[in-house]
Amino acid sequence: MSESIISQMIYENRRRLKLSQKELGDMVGVSNRAVSKWEKSLSHPSTDICLKLAEIFKISLDTLMNGELEPERRWLNKSGMESLRELYRMGRGPSSSHSMAPERAAILFREANPSADSFKVILYGSLAKMGKGHRCDYVLNRAFRGHKFELVFDRDTKNIPHPNTMDCFAYKNGKEIDRERILSVGGGKFLVDGHRTKPKSYYPLTTFTEIAAYCRRNKLRLWQYVEMCEGKEIFEYLKEVWDCMKESVESGLKSTGTLPGGLDVQKKAYFLYNRPSKNETAETRENRLVCAYAFAVSEQNASSETVVTAPTCGSAGVLPAVLYYQKEQRGYSDDDIIKALAVAGLVGNIIKTNASISGAECGCQAEIGSACSMAASSLCELAKMSLEQIEYAAEIAMEHHLGLTCDPVKSLVQIPCIERNAVAAMRAINATSLAGFLSGTRKISFDLVVKTMYETGRDMHKNYRETGEGGLARLY
Ligand code: SF4
Repeated sequence: MSESIISQMIYENRRRLKLSQKELGDMVGVSNRAVSKWEKSLSHPSTDICLKLAEIFKISLDTLMNGELEPERRWLNKSGMESLRELYRMGRGPSSSHSMAPERAAILFREANPSADSFKVILYGSLAKMGKGHRCDYVLNRAFRGHKFELVFDRDTKNIPHPNTMDCFAYKNGKEIDRERILSVGGGKFLVDGHRTKPKSYYPLTTFTEIAAYCRRNKLRLWQYVEMCEGKEIFEYLKEVWDCMKESVESGLKSTGTLPGGLDVQKKAYFLYNRPSKNETAETRENRLVCAYAFAVSEQNASSETVVTAPTCGSAGVLPAVLYYQKEQRGYSDDDIIKALAVAGLVGNIIKTNASISGAECGCQAEIGSACSMAASSLCELAKMSLEQIEYAAEIAMEHHLGLTCDPVKSLVQIPCIERNAVAAMRAINATSLAGFLSGTRKISFDLVVKTMYETGRDMHKNYRETGEGGLARLY
C-alpha cells in the first residue's frame, strides 16, 4: 500500500461524495483530525477502517489501496503509457490546454463545492497571457455562470509548477472553503497539484524502439499492439473519434464568414474545396483538397466547435485532413482508417510520454510537429508500409518541425495556426513518400528526434512558448 495513494483516494472519494472530514470521521468512528491526517499522508487508517472506507466509497479495497482515479486526476506516467483515450479527446476548441481542460477542471471544482456562493480563479503563465485569445475567460465565465465569480490574470508570478497553472477558490459568506491548484498539461488533460498518484499504464513499453522490437519478434503490426495493450474496446472509442473528425471536416467545409476574435480572418475551407484552379493537375488537386480538409477542422476549432485533440486542439486539423483525403479519394474503409488512427495514437502517446505535446512547454514543434508525425505514421499504416518505414516517416515529420515556435497573433488560434495545419498535412504526405523512397537509409531514430524536440523546447526562449510575447504575436 502506498500512503500517498491511499491519502489521495480518501480525499478524492470524500470530495466525490461531498462529505466533510467530520462527517466521514463520524461514519468510521474517528475524529475529523484523524481524517485530515490520512489525507495529508501523516498517518494511514487501519485495515478494518480501510474496509469500512471502501464500503462507504463503493470501491474495492484494492482500488482504495492502489489507486484508480478519474483520468483527469492522474499524473503523467513516465513508467508506462496511458490509454489512447487520454490522447484523443473530443471537445470544444480553440485550445485544449487553455479552454478545454480549464473548463472541465472548473466545472468539477464548482460541482465539488455546492455550498459555495462565490468563486475566484487566478490564471498564471501562458494561461494568463493567452487566456483571452484562447477563450479561457469565456469558458470559465460559462463554467461559473449563476455564481459570483472573479477572474484574475496574473502575468507576473514566475514560480509556478507548470506554464499553464490556475488556482481555483470557493467561498461561502466571504470565507474560503476550498482551493485547488490545476495544471493544464496539454492535449486537454489537467492534473490537480499535490495529488500525485500513479496513472493507469496500458502500455508497458514507452519508446518506439522497444515497441518495434516487440512487434517484430511477435509479428504484430502496430495497431495489433494497441489492441493487445488496450483490448478490442479501444476500437469502438476510435470509431467515435473518427466520426467526430469526419463531422468536423464536413461541417467546416460548409461554413463561411469570418472567425470570432476580432482579427477578421475569413474562413477559407469552403473556397479551397469548391474552387479548383484552371487546368488543375492531380498533384495540385490533392494539395488543394488536403488543405481544404485541414482548414475545415482548424476553422471549426477557431470557432469553438467540437474537434478531436490530435494531439491538441491547435493541431487538430492535420490528422483528419490526410485521413479524410485517403478515405474520399482512395476508398479506404472506416476500419482501415481506425487502425491507422491507432498507429497515429501510439506515435502521439510516445511523444506525450517522453517529451511533450504542449505548445506552452515546448513551442509549436510539440503540437504541429507531433501532429505531423502522427499523420505520417497513419498514412504508412494505410499503405501497409513496414515498421522501419513507419518510424522513418514519423521521424522525418518531426525532424523538420524542430525549433518551430508558438506565436499566435492576438492569442487567437488562427494565425499562423490554421495554415500551419494545412502545411503540416502536406508535409506528412511528403514524409511518407520519402520514407518509402529511402527505406533502410535512416540514421536518426524516432526516439532520438523526440528527445531532441523536448530539449529544443526546453531551451526555447519563453517568448516563443505560447506566451504571445514574441514572433508574429509581437510584430503583427
Ligand atoms: S502556433 Fe502552434 S502551438 Fe501555438 S497555438 Fe498555434 S497551433 Fe498551437
